[in-house]
Amino acid sequence: MSTQPVTVIGAGFGGLATAIRLQSSGMPTVLLEQRDKPGGRAYVYEKDGFTFDAGPTVVTAPGCLEELFALSGRQMSDYIDMIPLDPMYRLRWGDGFQLDYSADMERMNEQIAQRNYADVDGYRRFLKYSEAVFNEGYVKLADKPFLDWWSMIKAGPQLAKLQAYRSVYSIVSSYIKDPHLRQAFSYHTLLVGGNPFTSSSIYALIHTLERRWGVWFPRGGTGALVQALARLFKDLGGDLRVSCPVERIETANGAVQGVLTESGERIATRAVVSNADVMHTYAKLLSGEPRMDGMRRNLPRKKFSMSLFVVYFGLRRQHPELAHHTVLFGPRYRELLDDIFDRGVLADDFSIYLHAPSVSDPNLAPAGCSTYYALAPVPNMEKGNIDWPTVAPKFRDRILEFVEERYIPGLRSDLVTTHMFTPPDFASELGAHMGNAFSLQPTLTQSAYFRIHNRDPRITGLYFTGAGTHPGAGIPGVVNSAKATAGLMLNDLEMQNDQSQFSHEPHFGS
Ligand SMILES: Cc1cc2nc3c(=O)[nH]c(=O)nc-3n(C[C@H](O)[C@H](O)[C@H](O)COP(=O)(O)OP(=O)(O)OC[C@H]3O[C@@H](n4cnc5c(N)ncnc54)[C@H](O)[C@@H]3O)c2cc1C
Repeated sequence: MSTQPVTVIGAGFGGLATAIRLQSSGMPTVLLEQRDKPGGRAYVYEKDGFTFDAGPTVVTAPGCLEELFALSGRQMSDYIDMIPLDPMYRLRWGDGFQLDYSADMERMNEQIAQRNYADVDGYRRFLKYSEAVFNEGYVKLADKPFLDWWSMIKAGPQLAKLQAYRSVYSIVSSYIKDPHLRQAFSYHTLLVGGNPFTSSSIYALIHTLERRWGVWFPRGGTGALVQALARLFKDLGGDLRVSCPVERIETANGAVQGVLTESGERIATRAVVSNADVMHTYAKLLSGEPRMDGMRRNLPRKKFSMSLFVVYFGLRRQHPELAHHTVLFGPRYRELLDDIFDRGVLADDFSIYLHAPSVSDPNLAPAGCSTYYALAPVPNMEKGNIDWPTVAPKFRDRILEFVEERYIPGLRSDLVTTHMFTPPDFASELGAHMGNAFSLQPTLTQSAYFRIHNRDPRITGLYFTGAGTHPGAGIPGVVNSAKATAGLMLNDLEMQNDQSQFSHEPHFGS
C-alpha cells in the first residue's frame, strides 16, 4: 500500500472541502495554495483598519459546510458563529420600488401584491416549480459525479419534464407578469455566473435552497469561515502550504506521478485534485501532456462566465438602516445582460450588488466606521476588449456616485479607503481564464455530464473540484463538487489498495 499523500492544488472552498474530506478519511493530504492565504475567490483584504471579504458573502445551505466538521465528530459552531439574515436580500429599483426578499411568505405576498396582485398566485406556483427542480437538481444530483452518458440519460426524462431546456427567465415569466418581479426572481443565476436569459431553468432551485435553509453570514466575515475550514484541516493533521504555486502536474504513461512547485520542490503523490481554474490546469499545469491536447483545443470554445468589477470601500460613518445584502437594479435588464455576455460592451448603466457587512458585524471596520463592497457584472476579457487600467478608476467613481445617489447619501465625502478588483486581476491573481469570475457558464450544455468531470477520463489519478466541475459555482456548488470528487477518490484508492495486496503491477504513484 502506498504511503504517498494525495495533493490538492488550490485552497478555494472546493479545494478546502475536498482536502478535509480526504484527510478526515485518514488519507494524508497536502493542500497547496499559490496565494498567501487560503480562500481563493473568498480572499480577504485588510486596509486602513477595514476588513473586506473579497468574494462570496451570501452563504446558503450551511448543512453542506456542517457536514465537513461532522465527518470527524466535530461541530461547526465550535469553529465559527453563523448569523441568519432577514431579509435575505433587499432589492431596489430606480422608481423607488423595494422588495425585502424573505422566507416569510406573508411578507413576500404583501410586497408582491403592491406591485401586481395576480403575481401573488404566480409566485406560489413558481415556488412549487422551484421545489421540484430543487429536489431533482440539488437533493438527488448535486453531490453525484456525472462521469458517463448513462448518468445523463438516467436524469434526462426528469430534466425534460421540468423543462430544463428553458431559461430561468422564461420559466419565471411563465408564472410572473410584472417586469420588476420577473427580475427579482430570475437574477439569481448571476450569483453562479449565468445569464438568466440563457441559464437552464434548473437553476431556479436557488430559491428553494435559500428559503429552506436561509442566508447566513459568518461572524468575522466569509474570511472567518475560510479560516475555520483551514483550522479544521490542520486539526485533522492536514498539511496546508500557502504561497506555494504549483508549476506542473507530473505524469508518466497516462498516470499522475507528482506535482512540481514553482520553488522547485517535487511532491510524489498518489493522486492530484485540481481546484485551480480548469483552463489553467489543462494549459499550464498539464502543458506537456499530449493526452490533454484535445481539452486544450476544445475548452476555449466553451462559454466562460462573465467577469466582475468590485470596488471595496470604507466609510467614516455607520449606516445601520441598510440591509446586509442589496441589489440596486439599473434601468435596463435584458439589454444590459446582452452587453455583458454577448456584445462585450462596458455599458454606461449598471446593476449593482452592494455588500454592507458592518450592519451584522461592526468589528469589520474601525469604531464608528463601516465596510462595503459594490460589485458590477462586466464582460470577461474574451468578450470585451476593455482597457481596464485606464477605465477602472472612472468606472469605480461612477459606481460610487450611483450608490450615493440611490442608497447611501454622503458616501463620497465619508470615504476613508477604497480598493478595486478588475477582470485582469481575476486572470493574474487566480489564473482565471479570460478573467472569468465563475468558471464555465451554467447553461444546460455545460452542466452535469457536459461540465469538467470530477475524475479525468484520460489520466489515472487526476481529479477536479470546484466551480468548473459538476454541479458548478457558488459555495454550495463547489462544496458539493468536493463531496462527489472525494467520494470517487476514496473508492478508487481503496480499490487500488485491495489490488496491490494481490499484484505487483505498478499503480499510479505507488
Ligand atoms: C466577487 C464574487 C462574489 C461572489 N459571491 C458569492 C456569494 O455571495 N455566494 C456564493 O455562494 N458564491 C459567490 N461567488 C462564487 C464563489 O465565490 C465561487 O464559485 C467559489 O468560491 C469558487 O470556489 P472554487 O473552490 O471553485 O475555487 P477558487 O475560489 O477559485 O479557488 C481556487 C484556488 O486555486 C488557487 N490556484 C490556482 N492556480 C494555482 C496553482 N497553480 N498553484 C496553487 N494554487 C493555485 C487559487 O489561488 C485559488 O485560491 C462569488 C464569486 C465572486 C468572484
